[in-house]
Amino acid sequence: MTTCIFCRIAAREIPSEKVGENDGAFAFLDIKPLTKGHVLVIPKQHAERFADMPRDSALAVMELAQEMVVRQSRRLGAPGVTIAVNDGRAAGQEVMHVHVHLVPRAEGDGHGPIHHLFQEHAKLKDGELGEIRAKLTGK
Ligand code: 5GP
Ligand code: ZN
Repeated sequence: MTTCIFCRIAAREIPSEKVGENDGAFAFLDIKPLTKGHVLVIPKQHAERFADMPRDSALAVMELAQEMVVRQSRRLGAPGVTIAVNDGRAAGQEVMHVHVHLVPRAEGDGHGPIHHLFQEHAKLKDGELGEIRAKLTGK
């Protein structure tokens, strides 16, 4: 039996407030919601990191995430949603099974954009954007 808590939630061995499902993904309410209606979308097949997901899982997760965001808007009346993945411990990932956070937002709720995670912008040397582009593209 797996010890991964999110695998066990997807397998319904551990109870959760399920809100959606498709062939490859499962959606449920976060037990410690950042705002009311905070949903987590996970692949049914275990993957620790975003890059570890097979394409089918990734597509299923994004399809279900989109469906849940539409419901958060239409049924919970959320005028906005913060959509985020903490990918890797360095980025704050605590549960090592990929999960997309869908956090409903309200006008003037004071939480700000994801940019508020960072105190300041990266300081770039001349030409550094181009160097980074080259590394990322191999060109
Ligand atoms: P992370 O920090 O890894 O991006 O987020 C993990 C999230 O999973 C947290 O928001 C936490 O509240 C949620 N979580 C952890 N354990 C459980 C659980 O057993 N059930 C549910 N529904 N959510 C959980
Ligand atoms: Zn797992």
